[in-house]
Amino acid sequence: MRRPDRYRRQTVLPEIGPDGQRSISESTAVVVGLGALGSISADVLARAGVGRLRLVDRDVVELVNLQRQSLYSEEDLERPKAEAAADRLRKVNSDIEVEPLAKDVHAGTVHDILRGVDIILDGTDNLETRFLLNESAIDAHLPFVYAGAISTYGMLLAIRSPDTACFRCFNPKPLPPGSLPTCETAGIFNAVSAQIGAIQAGEALRLLVGNAPSGDLLVIDGWRPGIERIRIARSADCPACVGGQRDYVGARRTQVLASLCGSDTISLDPVHRGTIDLDGLASRLRGLGTARRAGDVLVADVEGRRLTVFPDGRALIRGVKDESEARSVYAKYVGI
Ligand SMILES: [Zn+2]
Repeated sequence: MRRPDRYRRQTVLPEIGPDGQRSISESTAVVVGLGALGSISADVLARAGVGRLRLVDRDVVELVNLQRQSLYSEEDLERPKAEAAADRLRKVNSDIEVEPLAKDVHAGTVHDILRGVDIILDGTDNLETRFLLNESAIDAHLPFVYAGAISTYGMLLAIRSPDTACFRCFNPKPLPPGSLPTCETAGIFNAVSAQIGAIQAGEALRLLVGNAPSGDLLVIDGWRPGIERIRIARSADCPACVGGQRDYVGARRTQVLASLCGSDTISLDPVHRGTIDLDGLASRLRGLGTARRAGDVLVADVEGRRLTVFPDGRALIRGVKDESEARSVYAKYVGI
């Protein structure tokens, strides 16, 4: 018996049609950041049948994420988000390829993360990564769907340089760290992140079936729903898309340390990598506290700090006040 066409209710749309569905099925999309926006957009793309979906996130699932990050449930707590998201989406659509990458996005990894993709969806929580993705998208001539949500507001711009403004065109001078509120300090209304994520996936599908980006920044008030469209012109003196500066792609990488969304967690990514013997490490750490495996990672509670160690040596260190303390904790308990 012939299998029913699972995409029938979207191929019947004149905006998509059989040709559009073929384009969607032959596409590869990367969702960078699998928080509130990435959860929704990845889910929509998987259900729409995007042929290959690369899911990237450096973080693990925490209880406070479940308020809005719809790919996860309580049983996923402390699992890497990329893996939990991939497991979920493979159950949703087994006809597509899903590739989880539990990686930090920085100048040293961005090239591999974007290799072979047709479109980039921004689910990140920080400007630095957006600037990096923006520069990479310009270099690779890839569309980049920027999106962000905080408090009860959200924003979105589908970028395809040089047809549209790039992300740096309307953010010419990056603010120093700590200048902007985070979802930790300002909060986030889950209905607005869901709206933005759905619109982001819709913009991605529109581009994948051959439409041009509108060039409009969409600003959404999620509390009193309404969308404002603001025309964003290319900046004649944009450092990135006009000036060719590569401040982020070209950043010299020593050791990436980032504070995660206003929390007391530091992500530490050692320069020298290798596969860590997590079981051996767990048995060493049990003498100092508790240590257990959670999927592919090791979770250890040691002297008031929680360490989540990934097999490639990257670690999330919770309960530290600054980067140098994180470096010291890493060196003390994991070794570098
Ligand atoms: Zn620009």
